[in-house]
Amino acid sequence: VSRVFRCSTCAQEAPWTTPGWRCPCGGPFDLTPPRPGAGLNRAVLQLRPASLWRFREAFPFPAGWTGWRDLSLGEGGTALVVARPDRPDVTVKLELASPTLSFKDRGAVMLIARATLVGASHVVVDSSGNAGTAVAAYAARAGLPCRVFVPSTTSPTKVAQMVAHGADVVPVNGGRAAVAAAAEANAVATGAFYASHVYDPFFFEGTKTFAFEIWEQMGHQVPDVVALPVGNGTLVLGCALGFAELAAAGAISQVPRILAVQSLGCPPLALAFAEESDEPAELEASPTVAEGIAIESPPRGRQVLAAVRRTDGEIIAVSDEEILAARHELAAAGLFVEPTGAVAWAGLTRADLPAGITVVVPLCGAGIKSPG
Ligand SMILES: *Cc1c(COP(=O)(O)O)cnc(C)c1O
Ligand SMILES: [Zn+2]
Repeated sequence: VSRVFRCSTCAQEAPWTTPGWRCPCGGPFDLTPPRPGAGLNRAVLQLRPASLWRFREAFPFPAGWTGWRDLSLGEGGTALVVARPDRPDVTVKLELASPTLSFKDRGAVMLIARATLVGASHVVVDSSGNAGTAVAAYAARAGLPCRVFVPSTTSPTKVAQMVAHGADVVPVNGGRAAVAAAAEANAVATGAFYASHVYDPFFFEGTKTFAFEIWEQMGHQVPDVVALPVGNGTLVLGCALGFAELAAAGAISQVPRILAVQSLGCPPLALAFAEESDEPAELEASPTVAEGIAIESPPRGRQVLAAVRRTDGEIIAVSDEEILAARHELAAAGLFVEPTGAVAWAGLTRADLPAGITVVVPLCGAGIKSPG
């Protein structure tokens, strides 16, 4: 059965080969129908190397397509380690050791794979930093010219990474929404493939492997809780999808609770969760050290709220002080993350879960990206 895009708002369908990135009604597409269990054959998996392509039957590419071999940088397959010996039930997954130093590589490789399959001639992307870096790297590898729209406040190191990959970087003043609008307008005007990590369902096919890997690394078990940063929700939604596929395939009996963590400077989802609302709260963001999750109006916010509630999870927010303290604590344990990369750890500290609860926390981005 080949899969299609279906709008999560109005149910209109489109082939997954569409160059469009969202439904004409404005709603985000999802891939349908689900195929739980595909790509999860343990006997096959044990013979394959660590990259996320070990799960390739779980992705929507045409059977026999081997283009991923030239595109892959070995993304995925990150280590799961105990961060503090006094907390053996808490493990951190080292997404900061990904090829471009953040988990965005998992989704970016999927976007560029789709771009090549739909015959794209060039790519545009909007990003607060890491998604742009990742897309720039894979676009370079695919030989596709790439333009990245970034907030003018983006860390110079991330911009340098994009430029090194040959991307044309366009700084935009105004909020994160203005950056997205500039990228969309450019895609429409130039016929570029819009590699949107927020809208494109293929991105979540990549991030769902984060859940698959945890299941394998814990001996085909899952933790009680995963603590995740959330801005647009690309890791939260990918994780929820991955665990849901594992559950639907009978590989696990219960999905982990998702503890999603925002910055107090920009907490539209934490606010909505506290208010028991189905929609992200409207707010005016204030500056935060967590540049990677400062998203005022996440387009998939409804889906994030629903996904977290389905796991009996929670969405909380932490202060810049808590984030910087968490960053310091991780560095003291040998793990240097960018400020956004410490958000989930700060949330775990704030949540103060009882001992004996097993928790996995991703360290999403490397410290060197934003050393200040
Ligand atoms: C992208 C990113 C996040 C958050 O991802 P969302 O999809 O916006 O929820 C968190 N940390 C780092 C380091 C990131 O690059
Ligand atoms: Zn629609």
